[in-house]
Amino acid sequence: MSVLDRFRLDGKVALVTGGSRGLGRVIAEALASAGASVALTARNSEQVHSAALGVQESTGARSLGIVADVTQDAEIRSAVARVLDTFGRLDILVNNAGINIRGPIEELKESDWDQVLDTNLKGPWLCCRAVSEPMKRQKWGRVINMSSMLGEIALPGRSPYASSKGGLDLLTKTLALEWAADRINVNALCPGPFATELNLPLLNDPTVNAAMQAKIPLGRWGEPVEIGPAAVFLASEASSFVTGACLFVDGGYTVQ
Ligand code: NAD
Repeated sequence: MSVLDRFRLDGKVALVTGGSRGLGRVIAEALASAGASVALTARNSEQVHSAALGVQESTGARSLGIVADVTQDAEIRSAVARVLDTFGRLDILVNNAGINIRGPIEELKESDWDQVLDTNLKGPWLCCRAVSEPMKRQKWGRVINMSSMLGEIALPGRSPYASSKGGLDLLTKTLALEWAADRINVNALCPGPFATELNLPLLNDPTVNAAMQAKIPLGRWGEPVEIGPAAVFLASEASSFVTGACLFVDGGYTVQ
């Protein structure tokens, strides 16, 4: 097997949560262009079906859109069942769906905390639990948890988000140990600042935007397309001896 062959995903099936836009959409397209069939989930039916069609048209891979909210166990279980019915297997889970509600702790509501933790931490836990059986049966799996540089370092005004991503890093490490014997590798992909809709409040404020760029050693926001190759690495045989790791794609932000 040549080194590039180790990155191929032919015959594999991936499920990407929150895949209708942003980094999830880019990751779905990257996995599909490496040969995987891809199922995307999102809460909005029109958006998820149009994204699935877009991935299929741009890559030629089989693609499926599924409406599912990652905070709802029944919806997650039925999404996994749908993937298994459609493709017959499930090899790669990308826990990508995530939200951020920013603000000083005094100004945040309890419901803000609940919403962020439910989406960013409980959601991946529910999704991992739902894919455990098929992946264990196959004795092969890859889980990629979309964490953040904010699982490792802090910024003011991010108490729910940073707490959720710090928790997600430890969920990653715990499941890496629980599932190692079943050849299911569990890793965290930790982006730095990427120019997506999640960061519109920062991108649209010229002062905050300039201050953010000044803090990034590479001097710019990440382009969404720059996350795809890292996801393909963690989804493939290329990362066969990598589990429980946090892979930073952050322009050098966290090494300062
Ligand atoms: P985005 O807001 O563009 O996309 C997030 C997607 O998740 C959306 O499609 C949204 O609808 C979906 N989603 C939210 N709640 C959901 C739920 N309950 N059920 C199903 N889907 C839901 O954000 P993005 O920038 O593409 O971020 C993707 C992931 O990467 C997130 O987990 C985010 O925390 C992480 N991340 C992003 C950055 C960045 O700079 N953009 C940095 C670090 C980490």
